[in-house]
Amino acid sequence: MSEAAQLQFPASKDLIAQIQFDTDQGKIWLNEQRMVLIHSAAMGSLRKELIETLGAERTKGFLMRFGFQAGMRSAELAMKVRPEIETHEAFSVGPQLHAIMGMVNVTPIALEFDVQAGTLYGEFTWKDSYECEAHINEFGHSDEPVCWELIGYASGFASFYMGRKVIFRETQCAASGHPHCHIVGKVAEEWEDQEQLEKYLTPDPIVEELFALRQQVSRLEESVRDREEQEDLLTNSVGRSGAFKNVCQLIRKACKSKVTVLLQGETGVGKEVVARGLHTASDRRDNPFIAVNCACIPPDLIEAELFGVVRGAYTGASHDRAGKFERANTGTIFLDEVIELSPRAQATLLRVLQESELERVGDNRTRRIDVRVVAATNEDLEQAVQEGRFRADLFYRLNVYPVHIPPLRERTEDIPQLIEHFLEKYHTLYNKRTMGVTDKAMQALIAYKWPGNIRELENMIERGVILAENNEAIDLQCFFPSLAEPTHPLNVIASSGVLKEQARCDSAANEEQWLDQLLDEDFSLENLEGQLIRKAMDQANGNVSQAARKLGLTRPALAYRLKKLEEVV
Ligand SMILES: [Zn+2]
Repeated sequence: MSEAAQLQFPASKDLIAQIQFDTDQGKIWLNEQRMVLIHSAAMGSLRKELIETLGAERTKGFLMRFGFQAGMRSAELAMKVRPEIETHEAFSVGPQLHAIMGMVNVTPIALEFDVQAGTLYGEFTWKDSYECEAHINEFGHSDEPVCWELIGYASGFASFYMGRKVIFRETQCAASGHPHCHIVGKVAEEWEDQEQLEKYLTPDPIVEELFALRQQVSRLEESVRDREEQEDLLTNSVGRSGAFKNVCQLIRKACKSKVTVLLQGETGVGKEVVARGLHTASDRRDNPFIAVNCACIPPDLIEAELFGVVRGAYTGASHDRAGKFERANTGTIFLDEVIELSPRAQATLLRVLQESELERVGDNRTRRIDVRVVAATNEDLEQAVQEGRFRADLFYRLNVYPVHIPPLRERTEDIPQLIEHFLEKYHTLYNKRTMGVTDKAMQALIAYKWPGNIRELENMIERGVILAENNEAIDLQCFFPSLAEPTHPLNVIASSGVLKEQARCDSAANEEQWLDQLLDEDFSLENLEGQLIRKAMDQANGNVSQAARKLGLTRPALAYRLKKLEEVV
């Protein structure tokens, strides 16, 4: 199918429908990608300045790589919006978006490709390229083609789409006197001057040189910094917000002495990470670090667990055993949920803190012990003292150096960095490489209230990495599958985006009526969701991609829900 007459792009309504102007938030969305409207004249003067400072060759490379990045993102969108990737319709998303974004008017001449086999040949005509216009306005006619950003976009789109390097080149350009521009694309290996062409797509040596130098400088800086600074908590844990820096500062001061530290904060804020950081930043770093969650040990065993036991002390104590404190000797012990300690264990702990000695359960021998204690709680210990659940004298002993770790919702600046950190972790763990988080998902993650704090964030990123395909960005629905539920905390965002847009299409009164009717009956959101999914699968004859499109979900998100539905049945 390479006859010009036969080749036509499909209607672009589905692509235009991906654009949403979220004026309240100052954002434009293309599906889940954040976009900006830029004046083409402003782009023209940026281009001019680049040419004048970097020279034409460097600018060409710079703009080609810039376009390449944009093209890759369009390919990602193509696979989402028109998932049947072996069809012309799906490939056409690239050139059609090029036109929608106002960059150039594309007409297909020839297009043959096979993603499976990795073959591609494409020819297109470009009319009214904004780049030609900008170039002619600033520099007049050129001997060489000048649509650098556009050609980078075409190459980036096709490369990402095909899963292998594809290079487009301009064989004719309107800036050099031709009636219009003409481009040809082939897989990289098929170009005779492949190396020459690819040179432009690899980052500029000047940038790499600068980067290498900068790295060298920071390595030098690091080696100059003293050991104390280097082992700083800041190098081990993630966070740049004022709230978290404050915690780091307190911990840094504490690690110079043996002072008992009490970490307070909600569940999941990372108390153990902080305790570990304190240990590694202290001069006990080469000695043991033992973490104990007091809530996980039955109350009648906790004494033996912590302080050890001698044979025959109670039924089941078949031999002498050292407790966690003895094992942490010369190091640090972290007692999480310290409020759960039994009264007897509280008494023994008090003695360890006051006199640095303990006896194993059932033993007469007193042992000297040198352990730094870091205790943690997510409850109000003072209140527990008032209610008689916790010894007052132990509380005062523990509360010498309290450190409050803020909940995640109070340190939202740290969220992007934490996400980066967990992505890195789970990419390695699952041997996968996603494209990170979509802009819209990032916005939602920052706005979310995080009742489960960092642990919840970590779990969510793990799930996102599992659900997303390689080289695909993790989208909103991977994180919040129940986003469409009106009660969902993120509904604020949803309502300014997709949901509101869809609602606008229907008559508001009709919808109201429909909702009333729905809720009058024996209603369950879960059931409704299940029914909708089954209906969509029916209509799509079991084709998951098609059904996903009907439901406005990504394929992995629907597959995930289908699996859940199967489990229920
Ligand atoms: Zn051109």
